[in-house]
This record gives sequence, structure tokens and C-alpha cells, in this order.
Amino acid sequence: MNEHDVIVVGAGGAGMRAAIAAHEEGADVALVSKLHPVRSHTGAAEGGINAALHDEDSWELHAYDTMKGSDYLGDAPAIDTFAQDAPDEVIQLEHWGMPFSREEDGKVSQRPFGGLSFPRTTYAGAETGHHLLHTMYEQVVKRGIEVYDEWYVSDLAVTDHEDPEDRRCYGCAAYDIKTGEVAGFHARDGVILATGGPGQVYDHTTNAVANTGDGPAMAYRAGVPLEDMEFVQFHPTTLPSTGVLISEGVRGEGGILYNGEEERFMFEHGYANNEGELASRDVVSRAELTEVNEGRGIDDEYVELDMRHLGEERIVDRLENILHLAEDFEGVDGLDEPMPVKPGQHYEMGGIETNENGETCINGLYAAGECACVSLHGSNRLGGNALPELLVFGARAGRHAAGGDMAKAEIPTGPSARSEDGAVDSPVKPGAVKPATGDTVADGGEVRSDGGAVTTAGEVVEQTVIRERERVETLLEGDGINHAEVRDDIQETMTENVNVFREEDNLKSALEDIRQAREAYQDVSVSDPSRTFNTDLIHTIETRNVIDLAEAITLGALAREEFRGAHWRKDHQERRDEDWLKHTMLRWNGGDPDLYYKPVILEGEEKTYEPKERSY
Ligand SMILES: Cc1cc2nc3c(=O)[nH]c(=O)nc-3n(C[C@H](O)[C@H](O)[C@H](O)COP(=O)(O)OP(=O)(O)OC[C@H]3O[C@@H](n4cnc5c(N)ncnc54)[C@H](O)[C@@H]3O)c2cc1C
Repeated sequence: MNEHDVIVVGAGGAGMRAAIAAHEEGADVALVSKLHPVRSHTGAAEGGINAALHDEDSWELHAYDTMKGSDYLGDAPAIDTFAQDAPDEVIQLEHWGMPFSREEDGKVSQRPFGGLSFPRTTYAGAETGHHLLHTMYEQVVKRGIEVYDEWYVSDLAVTDHEDPEDRRCYGCAAYDIKTGEVAGFHARDGVILATGGPGQVYDHTTNAVANTGDGPAMAYRAGVPLEDMEFVQFHPTTLPSTGVLISEGVRGEGGILYNGEEERFMFEHGYANNEGELASRDVVSRAELTEVNEGRGIDDEYVELDMRHLGEERIVDRLENILHLAEDFEGVDGLDEPMPVKPGQHYEMGGIETNENGETCINGLYAAGECACVSLHGSNRLGGNALPELLVFGARAGRHAAGGDMAKAEIPTGPSARSEDGAVDSPVKPGAVKPATGDTVADGGEVRSDGGAVTTAGEVVEQTVIRERERVETLLEGDGINHAEVRDDIQETMTENVNVFREEDNLKSALEDIRQAREAYQDVSVSDPSRTFNTDLIHTIETRNVIDLAEAITLGALAREEFRGAHWRKDHQERRDEDWLKHTMLRWNGGDPDLYYKPVILEGEEKTYEPKERSY
């Protein structure tokens, strides 16, 4: 068994930032990741990192923009902490050698981004995430932090106390993708989940195939609530054929959106009379699809993004990567012609419920980055706010897990006296139908292979390893269907029914499809018997996570009867603060998810935020 003080699952931006912070507190830290750190999806981030660095800008303005962007569903303690800490994190990156784009006077450049009242997005060309990952990986290597790359964490080692708040996480079980070995990782002080987004729940997504929501699904089944999962961000500018992202940086630099009638529709059809193309992402995505639905799109599918007027010199200097993406994936030369774009799944605002210190309601279990919901973005994330989030809250989770001296968090986790029961009118009984193939865990490790009492930390980890070995063997020995059939069905129904525009009937039909997919998953098996780089096996295990998260997103979407941020409901066209200024919480509850709500915290450090109508 491998043993460390702090084990960080995931080595993207959040994971590496957490590991560095924990190491700075003196902890023996390990990063366990299914991908090599610099292949993590943070590397795909193009546009930039928001931070109030300029004399004329302030953290209060950044906090206000973030709260407004969230459509007043963000929690003020998270937003204030974020806006205050982001500048130091960017300066820290600069000191570590991040090659930021610069002005002639040598200062780090900042550009406008959607929903920001000040141009505060720092960037490194249109490859910000790539440089961020490499800068942090250098720090990981320099510090000698142990990296177990190409290890797939398949379950958490959590005690089986009845009440999740009494449970403790002692580590995890992981599968060595290179050898097929399943081994235990014991964390003496804490496990930090930093596993990224669940974009693979959809088929048209900007996310990589590795983004399967493993962390949220594992935490959910272990007893941690998932928060606000219905809030999925659809980015307005993705290439139609692949979902590859065309950065908001293009619009930040002055790129213009046109419909099929060559109208600058954001203004001409009144979607955002002040900000136009730089309105918040939810607003622009809905505008594009409305244009297409009303017959003003191109090929009934997309609109166009034009950057030709910016001139070759500026485009090559600041957006060169975009030229390559448009050429390689769509065959379009962005210097000569507009690029076709349409909305695509991009980001999950919800995730594992945490407080500002990254703690979950399970002792010793933390989360940070896109897999977590602190709640900073509420119902809609502003572009450029995810990278500073993973820096700020990754660092805080790392410090706290390593025993750093930090103030007590203001955001509560787990159900409390302020929680309110909820109900959802699902056409099918959601949750597990019976233990999935090779899956002996009912909830939080309740089922143990020997049926005996598990007492020590090492034994909790060991039992998890035994269970996971059995699961792998069962999957390899079975003779059932391939996971891809199930995953395709989920992606198809989610893209069709739980997209930008949502209707009650569609959401219900998605739940029925998810139920069928869950049943079909009982018969999955892996045809490739190999123990070395068996990607079929990994994808099969991931597919279970995709199913659980698709269901959580859809249940939350069906329950929330209002229109807020990225969650548009045909049958509920208004934001209803009197009833819905609250977070959607889902608890796995042994496969029979429990829905409840917790209030949004609008009381900030300097003021209480007043919900206002959101216009751009
Ligand atoms: C194309 C694109 C462009 C973007 N551009 C921007 C931008 O310009 N600005 C901005 O603020 N945000 C941007 N975002 C959002 C932002 O990049 C992401 O939210 C953020 O990078 C996620 O970082 P992360 O560390 O949480 O996850 P990731 O970087 O995805 O890392 C996840 C890590 O977890 C590991 N992992 C996952 N599951 C397991 C498992 N079961 N076992 C072991 N390891 C596991 C992976 O190997 C990986 O190392 C963009 C997103 C996309 C998709």
C-alpha cells in the first residue's frame, strides 16, 4: 500500500495547485492521475485568467461581476474569497515563470471577457491553460512531489458510518493503467479530489474524453451531496463538427457574431444592447439558438464568428491558436472567412459540495476545481473565472488538508437546520436498480467482501482494494454488452433533452432513457482481456459515473421550476427569487437520491448582495 499525508486525485490545474500548497505546509504529498499532469484538460484552456490587478480595478468589482454572472446563486463568502485571492495567485504564477502575454511596457496584458465590467482577463496567447499546466508541473517536479500518473482512481476508501457526516475518508483504490494492478493509497491527513468536469455526459462538448466526472460520482456514492448540478454551461462558440472551442478571447479582442442574414444579431435582435457579443455565455448561447430556431441560422445549425477585421498582425499575436483550430477542424481560414460556431457543453457549475477550505461533509475528503461546487459560479460561470477558481480553492484545499492554519469556513456543508426538503416528479424511480456489474458498493462502502468489522484506516483502504479487484475481475470475465452503447445513449438523450432549452416533457424523457441505460449497464463487460493499457476497462468504469451524473443533472433540472442563469425552462420563464434562491442538493442515499435545498448566502464581507434583474 502507498502511504502519504495528502493524496490528490487528479493532476490538472486544481490538483497541482493543491499539491504545491500542501507541500508548502510541510506535507508528504502525492498526485494520483489517470493522465500525465500536462495532458490534463486544463491544458485546453485558451482565453485566460481573471484577476483584479489594475489600479483602476478592484476585487469588489470582480466579486460583483461574478455574483451578477451567477444570477445571484453564488455564495458571497466564496465569491469574496475568490476575488480577493485571485490577484496573488496570478502574481505567484508570474513569479513561477508563466509566460503571460505582455504590453509594450512589460506589464501583463489583460483583455475584456464576457460579463466583466473591466478588462481583467490575463492570458498567454490563446494557450493559457497549456502554459499554466507546464508552469505548475515544473513546480511539482522541483519540489519532488510524487506523481503516480496513469493510475485510475476507481473508488474512495470511506468508513461505513450510517450518517455521512460521521464518515471518514482514508484514501482510495487505484488501478495502474500500465500494469493492471489494483493498489491502495492511504492518506494520513486527507484526500483531495481534483478530477475536472463531466463533459462526456454530452456528445457535443468542448471537453476531452477523459472528462467523465469520476470525482463527483465517487464522492456522491460515498455520501457527499452534489450541489446545483442542473447548471451546465453551454459555450456559444464551438466548432459545429467537433465541439472544439473557439475561445471567448476572439470576442474579447473584438470578434463579431453574424446570423445567416448577415445581421449582428446580438444588437439587431436586442439580445444584449449594451454588451453585444460580450454578454454572459448563457445569454449569447440562447441568442444563437434562437436565431437558428427562427430560421436565421446557417444550414439550420450555426451562426458565424468573424475576426477578419482585427487584422492579421493582431490575430497572429493574440489568437494564433484559433487560426490552427479553425483550419484543422473545420477547414476554415480565419484570416479570410468567418468561422462557423454553435453552442456546446463546456462547463459544469455544480459539483461536489465544499466550503471555502475545500472540505466536504466527509472528514478527510476535500474537492477543488471543476469537480467541486464551492459555490462560486452559481447558475452561470463567467469566462476566465474557472482558472483562478482552481488556483484559489486548489491552494486553500491543499493548505487545509495539510493542517495549515486557516479560518473556519462560513459555508456549511451537509444537511443542516437551514436545509429544506425537496421533491422531484420523476417518471421513473431514479438511482441504482441493483448493484451494477462488479459493483458491490451500495453506499459509502456499506457492503464489505468479508462481512466483518472494519476498524483501522489501513483496513478501510484494504477492503476498498479487495472490492475494486473483484470489480475489475468481474468486468473482465463477463460476456455482456460494450459500455459504448450505454454511453452513446446517455450522451444522445442529454444533448437532445437536457441542453440549452429545457422542457418538462423532454427532461422526463431523459430520465426514462437514463433509467434504461442504467439497466443496460448491469450487463456491461470488457472484451479486451489485456492487463496493459486496457482503455476499454477504464471507459467501462467511467461510464457508470457518466450515468450517475447525467441523472443528477436531469433530476436537478426537472425539480428547478424557474429560469435562472444557464437553466432555461420553457414552462417557467422567470427567475423566482422568493422560491428559488436556494441550492439544489442531491444525496445518493444508497441509490435512491434524496433531494433537498440549502439557502444561498448573499451576505458578503463588505455588503449584502441584492438580487437584481440581470441585463448586459
Ligand atoms: C476547451 C476549454 C477551454 C477553457 N478555457 C478556459 C479559460 O480560458 N479560462 C478559464 O477560466 N476556464 C477555461 N475553461 C475551464 C477550465 O479550463 C476548467 O474548468 C479547468 O481547467 C478544470 O481544471 P481541473 O484541474 O479542475 O480539471 P482537469 O484539468 O480536467 O484535470 C483533471 C485531472 O483529474 C484526473 N482524473 C480524472 N479522473 C480521475 C480518476 N478517476 N483517477 C485519477 N485521475 C483522474 C485527470 O487525469 C486530470 O489530471 C476551459 C475549458 C475548456 C474545456
